[in-house]
Amino acid sequence: MTVPGADAVLVRHGDIGVKSAHVQASMEGDLADRVAAMLDDRGVSGTVDHEWGRLFVRTPAAEVATDTVTDVFGVHTASPARTVPASIDAITETLAEIATVTYDGGTFAVDARRTGDHDFTSHEVGKRGGDAIWQAVESEFDPGVDLDDPDHPFYVEVRDEDAYIFTERRDGPGGFPLGSQAPLVALVSGGIDSPVAAWQAMRRGSPIVPVYLDLGDYGGSDHRARAIATIETLSRFAPAQDVRPRVVHVGEYVDRLVEAISSTRMLSFRRLMYRIAEHVAEAEGAAGVVTGEAVGQKSSQTVRNLAAVDRATELPIHRPLLTWDKQEIIAEARRIGTYEDSTIDAGCHRVAPDKPATRATVAAVEAAEPPEMFEWATKAAENVEVIEVGEPESVVEGAP
Ligand code: ATP
Ligand code: MG
Repeated sequence: MTVPGADAVLVRHGDIGVKSAHVQASMEGDLADRVAAMLDDRGVSGTVDHEWGRLFVRTPAAEVATDTVTDVFGVHTASPARTVPASIDAITETLAEIATVTYDGGTFAVDARRTGDHDFTSHEVGKRGGDAIWQAVESEFDPGVDLDDPDHPFYVEVRDEDAYIFTERRDGPGGFPLGSQAPLVALVSGGIDSPVAAWQAMRRGSPIVPVYLDLGDYGGSDHRARAIATIETLSRFAPAQDVRPRVVHVGEYVDRLVEAISSTRMLSFRRLMYRIAEHVAEAEGAAGVVTGEAVGQKSSQTVRNLAAVDRATELPIHRPLLTWDKQEIIAEARRIGTYEDSTIDAGCHRVAPDKPATRATVAAVEAAEPPEMFEWATKAAENVEVIEVGEPESVVEGAP
């Protein structure tokens, strides 16, 4: 429950804190900008300040602001909080007042921290605050104190002239502010895995350039719609960024691969895909490619086959889900909100052969491949269709 009278959100970061002092200071500024952009994007009013190690959102809508802030990459946890002057009387009175509303039996504890000059210690805040809560509730309940694992924690954070009182910490995604790393091309198929992989890359600070390969007869309009829907969901985490889906048409090339190659077909398709991603990355200034591949999930994803396909591009292929089980990926997709879109039945045809190779070599893959395949990649990447999210119309960019 949001603490009664909440007028602020206390925001904590995680990995930013392991950086050197000047990098941390600069990233805290970036995080504040990202938090402000997210509030603005979701229509939540609030102003954002940052001090060493903390961000503060002052807002009349602390509940919804907390939920908004916990979608910002770089945010470790956030708490809706009530601000009071940093005096022991104001703090203890407020704790008692809050307890009369929120406490409904069981154990409690006061967890107090303090930075700045005050005429009281954090130990005194804990002691006097605890007494005040006890007195406020003892006529109705039989309260107990448990400092290690209380049913009702009351947190007090005193910082210079202000004290923040809160009763919960909500988890954010952690990681780093979006934009603190170079962009990556994210190959998004609309399946369950690839949106989760793209999200993980965003979480570490890389904006994504989402690329969907339209497989023509092997894909279909539902397949494409599914991919676009998942990208739209991802874009909710990246306000004020260009996350428009880039669609590359490869239908005729997939037809040719299916005709020409049997057991190593999927591996050549991967090589074609990476090479197209490389072209898009060059055009968009991206430093690598992200996929949803995981070791052993499919025959094309054995460690030998991954080794055989990687050589198609000079760019690094990042595979955040490399070691994840499907169940873990599904749980994460549900948390992020892409699962629903990904499980729309797209009824597409199988490109995979009946007897796929699982221990292919680069030489074997190349030998079976049409020699001009990488020229197809260049050609396909010349016509990138950029979808305007939220609008039915689309524009064609870079048409020759
Ligand atoms: P996903 O892995 O997203 O659930 P999938 O299981 O249907 O989809 P795989 O065959 O496992 O796809 O493909 C491995 C990875 O290759 C995907 O995670 C994605 O990054 C990329 N990929 C596959 N097909 C496409 C496509 N049509 N457009 C863009 N990327 C694709
Ligand atoms: Mg997959």
